[in-house]
Amino acid sequence: MEYIWQTISGSYSGYFNYLKNEILFPSWHNYFYWLIALSFFVWLLEILFPWRKQQAIFRQDFWLDGFYMFFNFFLFSLIGFNAISNVGVNLFNRFLLLFGMNNVVAFQINQWPVWSQYLLMFVLADFIQWNIHRLLHKNKYLWEFHKVHHSVKQMGFAAHLRFHWMESVIYKTIQYVPLAMIGFGIQDFFIIHIIAVAIGHLNHANIKLTYGPFKYIFNNPVMHLWHHAYHIPENRYGVNFGLSLSIWDYLFKTAYIPNENGYLPLGFNNNEKFPKTFIKQELYPFSKVKA
Ligand SMILES: [Zn+2]
Ligand SMILES: [Zn+2]
Repeated sequence: MEYIWQTISGSYSGYFNYLKNEILFPSWHNYFYWLIALSFFVWLLEILFPWRKQQAIFRQDFWLDGFYMFFNFFLFSLIGFNAISNVGVNLFNRFLLLFGMNNVVAFQINQWPVWSQYLLMFVLADFIQWNIHRLLHKNKYLWEFHKVHHSVKQMGFAAHLRFHWMESVIYKTIQYVPLAMIGFGIQDFFIIHIIAVAIGHLNHANIKLTYGPFKYIFNNPVMHLWHHAYHIPENRYGVNFGLSLSIWDYLFKTAYIPNENGYLPLGFNNNEKFPKTFIKQELYPFSKVKA
């Protein structure tokens, strides 16, 4: 137990120093400035080429979502990930050592060309996340957490990172195990994470993009707006679960884009009763009174 605690506290203090350096010394390997730069870039595209022309530049909940963006990106996405994955890796390796194994990699992934390692990891991570996202819709307890993301009524890039902090915990823990098993380390995530943030920002942006024939590979704002639609086909717990890639929705028949209307009503049943402020939204899944 002490060992686990040391690993967790070690990761957190390590992360604190890391964060301080990140903010004080900008560099190319820096999440903080990448997030800010990507956000300004996509926001600029929204201002120059708006899909919903009547939507204000500072749309409804712009600041709330902006706050969520930094809160989730830093405090939980990275800290939580760091702590959980270090504990996960160490415990997993210790467990395997009990059986005399110190390498579970079925094939030597690190002998592949670097670009193909990244590509495999990107596709694999995205597929795992697609499954987790479906689960967030299907399971009624998990849905209570995921409602925060679906409470957005006016879509814009910052809505991308409006989600309950528990989602980071759920996503990262489930996602990590299979990736660790084939031998991917934490440091590999940087570039993939930045690409995923860029695609995710665009998916939520007020820009009409479908990427032509590439819409069958990449998720896009038109497709993802339908994921947030108030009206979805009956007897389905959701549509268009894709994160970066749309291919899984086409393969498994969960894709649904009946038209390209930018003014779809968004949200879920009874969402007018859903709390409007950050603290109340974070506490909502744990409360007994539900919207
Ligand atoms: Zn969803
Ligand atoms: Zn979304």
